[in-house]
Amino acid sequence: MNEIGLRWQETRAQLPQNVQLVAVSKFHPAESLQKAYDAGCRVFGESRVQELCAKRELLPTDIAWHFIGHLQPNKVKYIAPFVSLVHAVDTPKLLAEISKRGEQNDRSIPCLLQVHVAREETKFGFSPDELTDFLSLGAWRELRGADIQGLMCMASNTDDMEQVATEFKLVCQLFNNVKQSFFSDKDTFCLRSYGMSHDWPVAVKHGSNMVRIGTRIFGEREY
Ligand SMILES: *Cc1c(COP(=O)(O)O)cnc(C)c1O
Repeated sequence: MNEIGLRWQETRAQLPQNVQLVAVSKFHPAESLQKAYDAGCRVFGESRVQELCAKRELLPTDIAWHFIGHLQPNKVKYIAPFVSLVHAVDTPKLLAEISKRGEQNDRSIPCLLQVHVAREETKFGFSPDELTDFLSLGAWRELRGADIQGLMCMASNTDDMEQVATEFKLVCQLFNNVKQSFFSDKDTFCLRSYGMSHDWPVAVKHGSNMVRIGTRIFGEREY
């Protein structure tokens, strides 16, 4: 077994069964993804549309491709036919575009709403208030081509795990509130996507059921 494959298996084995693992392969070549694939990985996360589409051409067809990065509305059309999950929907406009392209492809595209809880001002996403306001308005219920399946966040980029825990707890609570208020009749609203290479144990402890792990599996990225 190759090193990437071993690290994927090790990571998978350390996660509870109910936690999905997205192998974040951005900036790594297709050969590295193939190594993880050979070890059993079938879910990859990418953050650039062109890179994702290029790798998809080179790899087996039974891979679930997740888009985890900031997505510009004008790029949605390129991934709409096949993307398995869009993690970081950060504006009503992006959600509307995803729905439009989903309908054009006769599908409802699974997506997550990104919540901004980190201290960095530059991070994308709805604030908790914006999120509940948006959901209260209810227009999203008419979007037939986009299927909201949960929430996603990135914690502050810090070694202070207390701070990180506070942010994950907030998102977990927000998920529960939103679930009860807007999605109580919808079993597929069930995803809490948070946790990366350095903070995944904290994330899992505080309710994550989908972690996005890159460096720990593929090694450092060269930008
Ligand atoms: C790059 C990235 C990750 C993975 O980060 P690692 O530290 O390499 O595990 C997770 N989520 C998002 C949104 C990313 O852009």
